[in-house]
Amino acid sequence: MIGPLSIRARLTLWYTGVVVAILLLVSVAAYSLLRWHLYNDLDASLFTVAGVLRDAPPVDPASPLPPDLEPLVREFLGSEFADALMQLLDPEGRLRSRALRPALPLSREARANALRGAPTLETVDLTTGEQARLLTMPVEHGGRIVDLVQVAMPLRRTRQTLVRYVETLLVLVPLGAVLSAAGGWLLARRALRPVDRMSQSALKISAEDLSRRLERRGTQDEIDRLADTLNAMLGRLEAAFAEMQRFTADAAHELRTPLTALRGGIEIALRAERSPDEYRRVLASSIEEVDQLIRLAEDLLLLSRSTIGLTAARHPVELEPLCLEALELGVRLAKGKGVNVSLGATVPAVVQGDAGALRRAPLNLVDNAVKYTPAGGSVVISLERAGDRVRLVVEDTGIGIDPADTRRIFEPFVRLDAGRSRDTGGSGLGLAIARSIVLAHGGTLEVQSRPGGGSRFTIDLPAA
Ligand code: ADP
Repeated sequence: MIGPLSIRARLTLWYTGVVVAILLLVSVAAYSLLRWHLYNDLDASLFTVAGVLRDAPPVDPASPLPPDLEPLVREFLGSEFADALMQLLDPEGRLRSRALRPALPLSREARANALRGAPTLETVDLTTGEQARLLTMPVEHGGRIVDLVQVAMPLRRTRQTLVRYVETLLVLVPLGAVLSAAGGWLLARRALRPVDRMSQSALKISAEDLSRRLERRGTQDEIDRLADTLNAMLGRLEAAFAEMQRFTADAAHELRTPLTALRGGIEIALRAERSPDEYRRVLASSIEEVDQLIRLAEDLLLLSRSTIGLTAARHPVELEPLCLEALELGVRLAKGKGVNVSLGATVPAVVQGDAGALRRAPLNLVDNAVKYTPAGGSVVISLERAGDRVRLVVEDTGIGIDPADTRRIFEPFVRLDAGRSRDTGGSGLGLAIARSIVLAHGGTLEVQSRPGGGSRFTIDLPAA
């Protein structure tokens, strides 16, 4: 089986095909034109000869042409018309000049035309088996048809010329095809060389060295545009790769802190004999650290799942129950903290998505709102519709966020002012998880906030 053809081979084939088609077309056209001209010239010379015969000065204006006129005319015309055959007939069609070998036939039609005074051109078969072009022309004297002049030219020479021409084409067209294939092959190689070069340099780019870029030639052509596109893609890959590295380092760091604390506690406990109470205390604090590790591991898992994109089938999801669930969590977290969590205006709203993942976003927002709102403040959860968008808003009267940080807080492991988050136990993943879930649903998560003036987080989703 033949494998898929290379672009170069395909280009060459196409090119050759087109050139051969053009050559064939031009050849056929040239042949037809040549044939037309040859026949035209032949007919014109028949008229010339017949004209000379007809216009030979008559002895008596009313009498027929002399039968021995032919040798004279032949001498007059010269060698160019050497193979012309001529004869004179009377109006009845009887031969008056010397008998020709082969004799020229007089068709019924030609005679009828001649009697009406009109010449006739026809292609006839001579008795020798040869074909000839024959002109039959009447000669009038005194308003009467007195003679029929017949002049013929064998078609042998014209035919020969045409055959030669076809033979020449039969050699030249294949030669042209071979030459154009070779030319096409070279052209294709030239045209594709930049692509080859580009794939060579692309081969050198590895995951460790994403900072390399493909070279542009500065010609602003398709190849340059391809290089630009690939370079832009490399840029995005490089950024994503760097972010992944940063994320891995941050995650490792986050895991190490509780593990170190855990190990420290256990180590101290083991240093000397302790009372059962003391062991119990160490174990209890260890379990706290372990819980934190489990939470972190779960958050990491959730984040990685939602950044890959949600694979679960999408279903219509009612947002009102999600708001109620978030309200419930908020009320529970705010218990004894002096923060009032309530439900604002809501409208029935449905979006397409994965309910399991989607519920995490408002939960994380409410969790944060309660965390970062001091006693006496309030948190309001509401649901609005705007055209074909649905907005779930979590608004608090808490400590707010510096405008310079409003972008940063959505990145993983970013906690503003580590001191205030340390005791709240946040991993710095809550907003990152919420945002990637919302993005995976074709929505956006944005924040409006002022330091000391509270924050307003808005989940904007396309309505189902
Ligand atoms: P954390 O686990 O620390 O809460 P998040 O990703 O949920 O991590 O939030 C990142 C940071 O954004 C928090 O450390 C906090 O500084 C800030 N932040 C989040 N929500 C609020 C809010 N409602 N009010 C003020 N600051 C907030």
